[in-house]
Amino acid sequence: MPAAPVAIDADRLLADLHTLRSFGADGTGVRRQALSPADVAAREWLAERFTAAGLQASIDVFGTVHGRSPNPGPAILIGSHSDTQPLGGWLDGAYGVICALEVARALPGLAVDVVSWQDEEGTFDGFVGSRAFTGHDMTADLAQMEAGSRAAGWWGRPILRAEPGRYRACIEPHIEQGGRLEAGGQRLGVVTAIVGIHQHRVVFHGRRNHAGTTPMDLRDDAAMAMIRFVHDLDARFGTAAGPDSVWTVGRIDVEPGAASIIPDRADITVQYRDPDEAVLARMDEAFHAAVTAAPKRPDVAAMVYDVQPAQMDAAVQEALADACEATCPGGWRRMHSGAAHDAQLLAGLMPTGMLFVPSIGGVSHAADEDTAVADLALGCQAVATAVAGLLAGPV
Ligand SMILES: [Zn+2]
Repeated sequence: MPAAPVAIDADRLLADLHTLRSFGADGTGVRRQALSPADVAAREWLAERFTAAGLQASIDVFGTVHGRSPNPGPAILIGSHSDTQPLGGWLDGAYGVICALEVARALPGLAVDVVSWQDEEGTFDGFVGSRAFTGHDMTADLAQMEAGSRAAGWWGRPILRAEPGRYRACIEPHIEQGGRLEAGGQRLGVVTAIVGIHQHRVVFHGRRNHAGTTPMDLRDDAAMAMIRFVHDLDARFGTAAGPDSVWTVGRIDVEPGAASIIPDRADITVQYRDPDEAVLARMDEAFHAAVTAAPKRPDVAAMVYDVQPAQMDAAVQEALADACEATCPGGWRRMHSGAAHDAQLLAGLMPTGMLFVPSIGGVSHAADEDTAVADLALGCQAVATAVAGLLAGPV
């Protein structure tokens, strides 16, 4: 059944986005790290806005803000995060929260719950709100965040956990944080999967010595061994990877780091991502083959980061796709997310989907992050239309 576009109030959406931006504004960017004074003030303001929209607003011990619809379920949960990187853009996370609020206002007769998860960006351990909601053990997080929670006046409050049986689906609207939509001339992206991330720490050892007096055949150079390994690994990944794979040696520490000293230690991170578990497994094999093949065998710590890919729910994808076609015929695409999102955790609990709007220049996690005003409004209209479609179906 073709979806009929739902009307939203774009001016109201933008006004609230700009007010949220004012909390922690720094030039065109925002400093609103989890539990900072700006984050706390923004979350108290969000709770007021949720209440004004007719939702039952609450803030939990960590700061996750939830607006529960008084309408009978089944409900759709929509939202993202309102915390930022140390200096982040104004839309990362914030767009999904305010978009959710506008969808709830545009569909006052439906059960639309709105949420702003706490600490998606990892000021503490990351994904705090969505981990708590999906039933993870939060003991360590409580200890880590007690002082900030007390300062906010939230200590002693319950943890927001999912209400069993309430939700039919969850949708996280978000900026793309990449340049694929812009490059393709599309204005909306229906997310198919969120990448898994594997990360290793690899350490090479050598012998520190004089860079001028030690002949090449008598050296034990940790940095050169590392460089040969990375070169070999790059070639192996090139064979093992799929079209969506990415890999990064993002940190290289060489000791002692002096121009005239042969390094005795090279310490690097190797990270790779793919939306497909089978491809990640092939890349694991390539990684270990490179380690085994290295003439100078490095120390490899147990995988320091191991997040499995999350597939978005087929029915939610269909509802979003129908809504995109209704609101922007031919101007949207399906795509995977190369960045992690709260939706990755939600996908383990309920049918979950994501909708992307374009990032101008593909920029995010930076002060000049931006999205065209018309695309912000269009994305919100598409989400509202998808929600109306999802809640219209049989229970
Ligand atoms: Zn985000």
